[in-house]
Amino acid sequence: MTLPGAHVTPARVSKPAFLPYARQSIEQDDIDAVVAVLRSDWLTSGPSLERFENELARKVGAEHAVAVSNGTAALHAACHAVGVTEGDEVIVPAITFVATANCARYLGAEPVFADVDPNTGLISGESVERRKSARTRAVIPVHLTGSTVDLDAVRDAIGSEVRVIEDAAHALGATAGGDPVGSCRGSSDLAVFSFHPIKHITTAEGGAVSTNDAGRARRVRQFRDHGLSRDPTEWKHESPGPWYYEQHELGHNLRLSDLQAGLGVSQLSKLERFVDRRRHLAALYDSLIAEIAGVSPVTDSNRRSNSAYHLYSILVDFEERGVERRDVVHRMRDDGIGTQVHYLPLPMQPYYRGRGARLEDYPGAARYYARTLSLPMFPVMKDDDVERVVNALSAALDR
Ligand SMILES: *Cc1c(COP(=O)(O)O)cnc(C)c1O
Repeated sequence: MTLPGAHVTPARVSKPAFLPYARQSIEQDDIDAVVAVLRSDWLTSGPSLERFENELARKVGAEHAVAVSNGTAALHAACHAVGVTEGDEVIVPAITFVATANCARYLGAEPVFADVDPNTGLISGESVERRKSARTRAVIPVHLTGSTVDLDAVRDAIGSEVRVIEDAAHALGATAGGDPVGSCRGSSDLAVFSFHPIKHITTAEGGAVSTNDAGRARRVRQFRDHGLSRDPTEWKHESPGPWYYEQHELGHNLRLSDLQAGLGVSQLSKLERFVDRRRHLAALYDSLIAEIAGVSPVTDSNRRSNSAYHLYSILVDFEERGVERRDVVHRMRDDGIGTQVHYLPLPMQPYYRGRGARLEDYPGAARYYARTLSLPMFPVMKDDDVERVVNALSAALDR
């Protein structure tokens, strides 16, 4: 067999491919799964969706899982399902992706930022307590990088009347207190996942809500489907015939297609392998990074067994090393290595500044943000890639 590209000059062959900070793992059986759905009778709202939801619920150990078009839609639907509405406040971490806060705004509520631990980026019971008010309807803890927030502490801080929605976009496959994240067995009411290509499993775009509460699961399904009720026992009027349905509230079209669900079923079957690989890579990173002055992993080795390592984020004392983060990022990019910063504190975003937020009020978030950097982390990375990344980091800090 002649390899494609065998004719290229040795100089081109020897340059290693660009290593992004994250990427999907798609194998032949994933492709076959999508093609099988394409050949079937159902491209959306069919048996693949039902199967994906059932298998996801089983995997995360919850009674119900409802799949939607993306993780942001899952956050939106989860907030709706717990009754978040105009005038309410929703407590979210000062460091997270914008979607965690925006979902409150979609419903006319206001996100209120809780400061994070400067070393883990996670909210605590104490930081939530400080932001609690009579208007607090929900808290959305984010399991940043794949390490879990102490939800019992959050529950103790806010009491039983406030709903807890886990943003578990980074934590599919993680465990907390022996239970899988998403089981909602402890102190949370619902959990939300994303299946964007950089997350643990992908459906290209996709998301889900898990819960043990049948009523809330039904509200998410109804919200996903224009607010339509398909259950005759709930209808306000007598059905004039089999074509009948009723709209009970304003919903959206947040559906996940069967093509995506078929991919999701295939990807989900590999979750343990993918997460094990991430943990292996993280252990390798930990051991190599220990040699570099001024650098430490965000999630240390004590937490390895329960983190799902969506990200491998480090903390760098850029001041001590006398180097700017942007120069390190540029140098690593020149060496063919992608990095990212997770995340800009939300109080820095012009949109939330315009609503009164100020970074000065969040010293933990400011300190975390000043030092964090995410290195490449995805299952198809080779062990050698980790060494390449750490060498490039070390060189970029030395220059
Ligand atoms: C990815 C992500 C989301 C949003 O998921 P999408 O599927 O991209 O809409 C929300 N919160 C966090 C923390 C995420 O990482």
